[in-house]
Amino acid sequence: MAENIVINQEESLSELEGSNKVDLLGMDRQAMEAYFLSIGEKPFRAGQVMKWIHQFGVSDFDEMTNLSKALREKLLKLAQVRTPKIVAEQLSEDGTIKWLLEVDNHNSVEVVYIPEKNRGTLCISSQVGCALECTFCSTGQQGFNRNLENWEIIAQMWVANKALGCKPKEERRISNVVFMGMGEPLLNVTHVFPVARILMDDFAYGLSKRRVTISTSGVVPAIDKIKDELDVSLAISLHAPNNPLRDILVPINKKYPLEELMPSLYRYVEGGHSKKHVTVEYVMLDQVNDRVAHAEQLVKLLGDLPCKVNLIPFNPFPDTDYKRSSNNAIHRFRAVLEDGGLSVTVRKTRGDDIDAACGQLAGKVSDRTKRTLHRVEFSGKSLN
Ligand code: SF4
Repeated sequence: MAENIVINQEESLSELEGSNKVDLLGMDRQAMEAYFLSIGEKPFRAGQVMKWIHQFGVSDFDEMTNLSKALREKLLKLAQVRTPKIVAEQLSEDGTIKWLLEVDNHNSVEVVYIPEKNRGTLCISSQVGCALECTFCSTGQQGFNRNLENWEIIAQMWVANKALGCKPKEERRISNVVFMGMGEPLLNVTHVFPVARILMDDFAYGLSKRRVTISTSGVVPAIDKIKDELDVSLAISLHAPNNPLRDILVPINKKYPLEELMPSLYRYVEGGHSKKHVTVEYVMLDQVNDRVAHAEQLVKLLGDLPCKVNLIPFNPFPDTDYKRSSNNAIHRFRAVLEDGGLSVTVRKTRGDDIDAACGQLAGKVSDRTKRTLHRVEFSGKSLN
């Protein structure tokens, strides 16, 4: 049975709100070095402090014992390591854990840990809600409030590490991080890019670029920005093989249709870093996008793009008209893709008993878009 635990962590965020102190949790190395220079200290202090914060989970400067007393006192006056309040923790019977974190007085976001045999994946959120209204996604129906800041995003990793009891030099329980929680990360690159750098920094979590994945619904200019500025893995939430169907499932397609999206993916794999392939995410919706004709179109669309396709059985949420494709339909779809030369996996659904599966994250969103008052209606009709 899934288990709900409500946690009362009264300290942390509430005590520090309204403070004028500089937040150190969300600074990447470059920003941290610049900060130490700005307060008259040597830049190497940045690496020391990052280690304390991210590897040892320390937020109290007094515990950073390799810093001089004078520096600790200076930091106490000028800076802080602000961490969010954990509102609740849910444990799934399959070992998945979902935390609800309060990011300000009216909003909260969800972060999910998925343990597997050889790895542990943390799925993190980048926005409070989402403005993009993908019709198969619970977050998309919640409306949108704001972008998360650096510290609020990396805090999800920090909190999960603490909660899981991770220790430096021990085998990592969180080996992979995916930006697949609430929000569209590429509409928040100002805060997401520094966080990705912290995740990959040896003074922090030291994850390899293969183990940090940014998932986008197709914000074409920002895909080019990744190509130029950030060496991470990329997943594209495709979900449809043609524009009319994608316009309905992933409405940002009206702004960046497949004719623009596909070339941007080729530019990414051929870009300056060592990108090898793109992961193509495709949710399987009964009678909507799961027919043989759709699979044939997908083979054509992907052409010779270096990619692997991840088929995701749809995870239902309240008030949706969509249904999960049958196992037969998924197997038939997979066979057509494989016959077309594509590498395909079918994602195992995890944490659906605690609404932590893909597309089910909702958090608590104070909807500034008022979308929840005029919810998108969709008949469930298939377009070929
Ligand atoms: S699938 Fe992603 S981009 Fe689309 S509404 Fe959900 S969170 Fe937003």
